[in-house]
Amino acid sequence: MQFKNSIGQAETKALLQQMVLAARVPHAQLFLGAEGSGKLALALALAQFIVCENKLDKDACGQCKACSKAEKLIHPDIHFSFPTIGSKVRSDQFLPQWRNALLESPYISYNDWLQQIGAENKQGNINKEECLNIIQKMSLRPFESPYKVLIMWLPEYLGKEGNRLLKLIEEPPENTFFILVAEKQELILNTILSRCQLVKIRSLQDEEIIEGLKLQKGLTEEAAQSIAHLADGNFHEALSITAQNENENAELFLDWMRKCYKGNSVELVKWVDKFATLGRERQKYFIQYALHFMREYTILRMTGNTNIRLLEKELKTAKNLVKVIGFQQIELITNLFNDCSYYIERNANPKVLFLDTSIQMHKILRNKVPKKLKTV
Ligand SMILES: [Zn+2]
Repeated sequence: MQFKNSIGQAETKALLQQMVLAARVPHAQLFLGAEGSGKLALALALAQFIVCENKLDKDACGQCKACSKAEKLIHPDIHFSFPTIGSKVRSDQFLPQWRNALLESPYISYNDWLQQIGAENKQGNINKEECLNIIQKMSLRPFESPYKVLIMWLPEYLGKEGNRLLKLIEEPPENTFFILVAEKQELILNTILSRCQLVKIRSLQDEEIIEGLKLQKGLTEEAAQSIAHLADGNFHEALSITAQNENENAELFLDWMRKCYKGNSVELVKWVDKFATLGRERQKYFIQYALHFMREYTILRMTGNTNIRLLEKELKTAKNLVKVIGFQQIELITNLFNDCSYYIERNANPKVLFLDTSIQMHKILRNKVPKKLKTV
C-alpha cells in the first residue's frame, strides 16, 4: 500500500516519510490510534516505502518488484503478527485469511478479523508459539531487501508473552524494524511500551472520511457526508455503514424492478406507499444506487465482464436482465432515474413521483415505449 492510498493523516505521513528519507526510522515504533483511524494502513505504507527499490520523493514507487510484492502482502521481508486463536498456532498459519482481509480493507476491526477466522466468540491472542516464531524469523537475514520489517497488529493481545520479545525489540538485528499497531495503550506491557517510539494517530476528520468514501466507494459528496457524520472519525465504521446501505438499497431496488416488470398495480402502489415513508435523504440515496446499478449493468451488457461492482445477488439479477434491458432501454432508464433525482431534490411528492416512475419503468421493461417518447 502506498501512502497516497491511505486516507488523510497528512501530518503523520509527512513525519514517516521524513524518517525514511533521512534514514532515521526507529527500530521499534508503536502506532497508537482508535479503531478506523488508519494506523494499520500507515504501517503498511511505511513498510512498503522502506523496502521500495525506487523511492519517490514522498512515497513508494508502486512499480518496482518490491512494491508489487508489498502491495500483495507477499514480500518475504515484511512479516506480520496478529491475534489468532488457540495455543499452538502461529500467525503465519492464518496468512491467507489475513491477506484477504487486508486487501479488502486495511481498516479492519478486531471483531471483523475474528469473524474472518471463524472465531467470533473466542478470545484472540498472540501466544508463546508465535513469539518464538517471531524471534526465529527476525534473526534470519533478509531475503530480498536490505531491510526487514515486522508489523504486529494489536500487541495488546500479547499478554505476558510479550516479555519474550523484549530483548529482540531492544537490540534488533541490523536494518530490522518493528512497527506495533495498537488501540489500547493501557493493555500493552510497560516493558514493551518503554522500548518503542510512540506515534499517536488521531481519529480521522469528517473531510478525510468523505474524501476516502468518494475515492474508494465512488459515493457522491452528499452521501459520503451523511455517512461521515455517523462514522465519528472511524473509517472502518464508515465502510460498514456504506456496505449496509448498499445492501439495503440492493434489496429494495431488485424487489422494485421485479414489481415494475410484473406491473401488478396493487403491488406497485403498496411498494410506493412504503417507499414514500422513507426519508428524503434515503430516497435520494436509493436513486443514486439505482444509477450505480445501471452503470455497472451497462459495463456487463457491453463487455460481458462480470468483474463489476455488484454483489453476488445483484450480479445474478443483472445477468437475467440482459435479456430484458437493451441499450436503448438503458438510456431511457438512466434518463428516468436522473429526472427522478432532479424532482426529489425539488421536493416532489414522493408518492406521485415514484408511482409515475414505476409505471414508466414497467413500460420500458416491457418495451412499450414509443421510440421517440421522452421520459417524464
Ligand atoms: Zn517501489
